[in-house]
Amino acid sequence: MRKKAKRKSAPRVKARTQPKKKGFKKKRTALRSMAAPDASAGGQKIVTALGEINLGEKIITNSARGTFLDCRKKFLWEYAYRLATRGITDYFWVGSVCHEEWDLMYQRGKFAVKPFRKRLNAAIEKALALCVNEDQSDKVWKGGACIGGLIPSYAEHYLERDLDQFEIVATETRFEPIEIPNTSGWRYGGIRDMLVREGGELGLWENKTAGGIDAGYIARLPLDFQILGYVWATQTEMEEELDFIMYNIAQKTKLRGRQGEAFPSLLERIAEDYAVDPTKYFYRERVPFDQRSVKNFVKELSAFCGELDRAIKDGYWSMNTRRCADRGICPMMPLCIEGPKPDLLLQYRRKASQHEELESKKKAKAA
Ligand code: SF4
Repeated sequence: MRKKAKRKSAPRVKARTQPKKKGFKKKRTALRSMAAPDASAGGQKIVTALGEINLGEKIITNSARGTFLDCRKKFLWEYAYRLATRGITDYFWVGSVCHEEWDLMYQRGKFAVKPFRKRLNAAIEKALALCVNEDQSDKVWKGGACIGGLIPSYAEHYLERDLDQFEIVATETRFEPIEIPNTSGWRYGGIRDMLVREGGELGLWENKTAGGIDAGYIARLPLDFQILGYVWATQTEMEEELDFIMYNIAQKTKLRGRQGEAFPSLLERIAEDYAVDPTKYFYRERVPFDQRSVKNFVKELSAFCGELDRAIKDGYWSMNTRRCADRGICPMMPLCIEGPKPDLLLQYRRKASQHEELESKKKAKAA
């Protein structure tokens, strides 16, 4: 039996991750003025190209499907015209850095605080360079403080136990898009977080970062039908049925900086809070499913593609205004109000592809 790992004290993150205020402001101003000519050129290009809807390879992901179901107009802006707001969206950024860290620790079977801090510093620097205003950069600092506490505490709490309990079959992997039956050539693509075996059973592991984990959040997990798409894709690829889905949820801290508090002190407070009681931040749920639900999901996916084809053919993209202020103000709202005017389009960039998130990930290994 493995010895119980000694609890490490809360990680200290170096003060050098926070640039001096004066220099920082200068850097932001320089970035803004550098961004302006590029943005203008990009804006003009978009105006010329906005008439064309090009859905490229006809791939549907869970996030594209979710966007269409939420608001078709948003799908039009984000996936048909491939528009995205410039800069960083904090809740996506925190989630994506955490996912990379989880991927790394299970891939290597170990975690060390020092190299983690280096990677985090680099991620913060990289994100800051993309920020287009101080509100975004503030959110990056806060997000960085959260990740600085969350990841080491998670590793301390779970990693050794998990490596004893589960065989890691595959870490984060992009699966090859698979053909959706009875459609005009649509395929389903995505990235699954991890595949594990436990006592001969094969499980799909889904990592999530959440703002809060309450009874409502947990009660809704069995209704997360989108995950069945990953089950379907994995089963098709591996020619083996999955037995369970494991939700691995980490809650983001609600601690905020106090008036006049230096950034390193905030980092330390958050790290301490995560380390003292990890159970208040981490939650797991093994959710059962049956093969009939997977088949139903695929059927629903085929019908969904029919709806999408109709919207493209008719050019009818309805607005669902009930979604406009769901997670703060929808970033596409100026476009919905004023239309794609050249000056408005300067706030947006054209994505290289509809599903940028798929481009950066490695392909699935042959099963
Ligand atoms: S602002 Fe509202 S209507 Fe427009 S895309 Fe966003 S959610 Fe849809």
